[in-house]
Amino acid sequence: MNLDPHYDIVIVGAGPCGSTAARYAAEDASVLLIDKKKTIGVPVQCAGFLPKYDELEELMPDAELPDTFRYPKSCVYTETKCQRFIAPTGDSKEFDVDANVLDRRRFDQYLAERAVSAGADLRIGTRVTAIDGKSIEIAGMWGSHTITADVIIGADGPSSIVAKAANLPGVEDDPMGVAHAIAYDMTGVEIDNEAIEMHFGRNFVPGGYAWIVPHGGTSANVGMGIRKAMCEPGVTFRDYLHRFIVEHPVASEKLRGGRVTSVIA
Ligand SMILES: Cc1cc2nc3c(=O)[nH]c(=O)nc-3n(C[C@H](O)[C@H](O)[C@H](O)COP(=O)(O)OP(=O)(O)OC[C@H]3O[C@@H](n4cnc5c(N)ncnc54)[C@H](O)[C@@H]3O)c2cc1C
Repeated sequence: MNLDPHYDIVIVGAGPCGSTAARYAAEDASVLLIDKKKTIGVPVQCAGFLPKYDELEELMPDAELPDTFRYPKSCVYTETKCQRFIAPTGDSKEFDVDANVLDRRRFDQYLAERAVSAGADLRIGTRVTAIDGKSIEIAGMWGSHTITADVIIGADGPSSIVAKAANLPGVEDDPMGVAHAIAYDMTGVEIDNEAIEMHFGRNFVPGGYAWIVPHGGTSANVGMGIRKAMCEPGVTFRDYLHRFIVEHPVASEKLRGGRVTSVIA
């Protein structure tokens, strides 16, 4: 369980990007993968919609897809066939997209397992608190340490400490460049289980869109990403989501009778 004082590569963040980077980097280098979460993938902060491997290949023919996009069925809640874009009037357009809806907790844990199998060292419950050049301060359930790395990979999300240490601009510098997300898992909803629905319209989802992502049966992830700068004064993000569920002319018909089982974001 001892940490080495030096690694070729330290990766901050064991989400999909960090674990995928670790899985490949560990083939040729000593790698430490760090995450502040005590359980990888928890809390879930994602609806889980991901086009299938063949669909991604078709959408991005020039991309070299990582093999971590081939995951076991145990990571999948359900499969969907199309993506439907809906205006507040109810007018809609839809496109065939073969996709999986992932259980992000299982998916993230699967990816971290792949990284460890490839030889990466993993420390959960450990936060990077400071970075100075190649020197990294970490603190958490394995104690406080200073380690060094030749390369530091920032896979630590939108408020990245690695990006700050590298003087890269943060998301907070541009109010229109960032959307705030809020989402629930719901049950008892009456939805089309083959469709990912995306709803638009300034009154309900200012500067963004709302989604209904089926989880199978009568369950779904329901959420929205909206821009604060475009919201009405005094109306919270939660107010917007509740308004969408209860009052939206199309979505409320499907969602109004449901109940929230989990607050996702
Ligand atoms: C509500 C919501 C719904 C979404 N739905 C979808 C969807 O349906 N489909 C889709 O493709 N995308 C979706 N996304 C986006 C998707 O979740 C992200 O694109 C994806 O998680 C990014 O992966 P990542 O590895 O870059 O970062 P993250 O998954 O954010 O992982 C970053 C990790 O870094 C760790 N970390 C941060 N700071 C530190 C630190 N100082 N020290 C140690 N660890 C640290 C965090 O604990 C975290 O585990 C959604 C996002 C939200 C918020």
